[in-house]
Amino acid sequence: MSKSEYKYLEEVRDMIEACYRCGDCRVAYRPAVGRYLVCPVRENIPGKWEPFFARGKIMLANGLLKNEIKPSQELADIIFQCMTCGSCQTICNQSYNPTLNHPLSQFMDHPKIWEALRAELVERGFSIPRHSEILKYCKENHNPYFEKHEDRTNWVPDGKTFPEEAEYFLFMGCTEPYRIPEILEKTIKILDAAGVEYTLSKDEWCCGSVALRAGNRPLAEELVKHNFEILKKSNAKKIFTHCAGCFRTLKKDYKEILPEFDIEVMHITELIQELIQSGKIRLKKDIDKIITYHDPCHLGRHIGIYQEPRDIIDSIPALDLVEMKRIKENSWCCGAGGGVKSAFNELALEIAGDRIEEALETGAGYIVTACPFCIRNLRDAAEKHQNKNLQVLDILDLVIESMDI
Ligand code: SF4
Ligand code: SF4
Repeated sequence: MSKSEYKYLEEVRDMIEACYRCGDCRVAYRPAVGRYLVCPVRENIPGKWEPFFARGKIMLANGLLKNEIKPSQELADIIFQCMTCGSCQTICNQSYNPTLNHPLSQFMDHPKIWEALRAELVERGFSIPRHSEILKYCKENHNPYFEKHEDRTNWVPDGKTFPEEAEYFLFMGCTEPYRIPEILEKTIKILDAAGVEYTLSKDEWCCGSVALRAGNRPLAEELVKHNFEILKKSNAKKIFTHCAGCFRTLKKDYKEILPEFDIEVMHITELIQELIQSGKIRLKKDIDKIITYHDPCHLGRHIGIYQEPRDIIDSIPALDLVEMKRIKENSWCCGAGGGVKSAFNELALEIAGDRIEEALETGAGYIVTACPFCIRNLRDAAEKHQNKNLQVLDILDLVIESMDI
C-alpha cells in the first residue's frame, strides 16, 4: 500500500481504517449508563447529515487517503463543525470504553483524527475565515482575543507580586485574563488563603489549544516551545490551570509535541481537592443550594477528571448535588469547544441550550462547571433562551463562599 500525500492523516491511518461503520456514533441510546444520543452537532444540524457525525467524517478522511475525494472549502466547512468533544470516542467499540465494559482495544482517538483532518485542510488553504483571522492575530500577539499581549496580567490586584521561582506555576491561559478575570482573582485568593507557593509569568503565551483545534500545527508548536522555556525559568515542579482547554493541551499535547516536556500538570480542581484533604483549605460555611454539575469535555472525557470536582462539591456543607441524566463519559458537550463558538456561534448556543434544559430537568437552581468556555457558552445560551431559573456558576464561586474568605 503506497502512502498518500497527507502526512497528518497517515499518522492516524490505522485508526481511520479501524472504523467498521457500525453507526453507534450516529445514534446510541443506552439509558443504563446514561447515554442518550451521541453527537451534539448531528442532533442540531438540519437534516442530520452523515458527514456531521463521526462515521461520515471518518469516511471522508478515508476518501482523502484513497484519493477518492479532494480537499475543498466545502469539506472544511463540515469538518470544522465539531467541538472535538470526544462523545463519539466514548461510544465507539474501537475505543477503550470502561462505561460499556467492552474494552476491545484502546485504539481509536476520534478528536485526534479530526485534528489531523483539519491540519491537512488548513495546510492546503481551506480553513474557516474567522479561525484564520484569530490565528493570524494569535501568532503576532500571542492571544486569540484581539487583545494586547501586555494586558494579560491586568487582572492582578495592585500590590500583588509573584516570586521568580516557585513550586507551582499558575498558567493563566487567554480566556480568563482577557474575558473572565474574576476566575483568576478567585484562584489566587483561594491559594493565598491556603498558603500555596506559586508564581506566574507575564511572558506566558496562548497555550496552543486554539491553533491545534483549528488545524495550525506550526503555530501550536511555536507557542508550546515558547511556553516550555518560560516554565523552565520558573523552576516549577507543577503547573496548574483552571482553563480546561489549556489543561488538556498542557497535559496531553505538550508531551506529544515536545517529548522532553516533563512538568506535572494539574487542573485547579485536583489542586483544591489535595488542599482540602491536607487541611489547608477548610470548607466551613453552609451553602444551602441545589446544584447540578456539568463535566467540561476537555477535563472529563479528554483526561478523565470526573471525581475531583464532585469531591469538592461533596465537601461543602449543606450543598446538594443533583446529577443530570448524562454525566461523566456520557456528558453532553456545552457546544463551545473545537473552534465552534468562535466560528459557528448559533450552533454552539443551540447545543448549550440542550444542556441548560437538561440541567433544569434536575430541579437545580445552579449549573456548576470548571471551565471558562463552558461558563461563557452556557451563560450566553441561558440568556438567549431567556432562562431565569438556572444560574451558571464556577466551582471556585462555591469554594470561596464556603471558605468564607
Ligand atoms: S462507532 Fe466507531 S466503528 Fe462505529 S461507525 Fe462510529 S467511528 Fe466507526
Ligand atoms: S467529537 Fe463530538 S461533535 Fe465531533 S463528531 Fe464526535 S460527538 Fe460529534
